[in-house]
Amino acid sequence: MSDYLGPKPTKRCSQCHESKNLDEYTRKTASLDGLQDQCRECRVKSNALRGNHNQIESIAEQVAGGRLKYRELSSVDRDAVRATAARMYELGVDVPTAARAQATELRGFVYIITNPAFPDWVKIGRAFDPESRLKGYQTGSPHRDYKLEYAVYFKDCVFAEREIHARLKPAYPRSGEWFRINASIASMFIDQLRETI
Ligand SMILES: [Zn+2]
Repeated sequence: MSDYLGPKPTKRCSQCHESKNLDEYTRKTASLDGLQDQCRECRVKSNALRGNHNQIESIAEQVAGGRLKYRELSSVDRDAVRATAARMYELGVDVPTAARAQATELRGFVYIITNPAFPDWVKIGRAFDPESRLKGYQTGSPHRDYKLEYAVYFKDCVFAEREIHARLKPAYPRSGEWFRINASIASMFIDQLRETI
């Protein structure tokens, strides 16, 4: 065998389309040549992606309040919840965390919402899912012109919201959850807090 000097047999990967040595493929007894169609590297990548996808779907189900509720959403709402879940996943939120957050309401986002009817004012609140909170406001507004400007995830958004309100209070006029402050300055306060806790 070691005397064989001809070209090494290769196989073209169905994913990356590179011709690679046979030892770069894992076995698959059921296939004609006994090997997987995708090279080892591509299989590792796609398995990892599938893993992410499943994680995001699970978080999305938690955000929606359960698998059934998630399935019952319109496709537009489901996309919105999935987008929130994907952001949460990027922020390192796992499924148990999402489930706990739903139960305790501690973990979640501090968000900034604006409305052109109240120029110079921003609403700073907290929610496990700022986008569905935003939807709630829109329902009560004939113009549906509330805008989610910013949202930052905190392990304890109850504390974070209280702290932001306390920091703004001495310097900015307040009315309930509304502050007379520029949205980008308000977002700097949130970022600052995020860095220190
Ligand atoms: Zn490949």
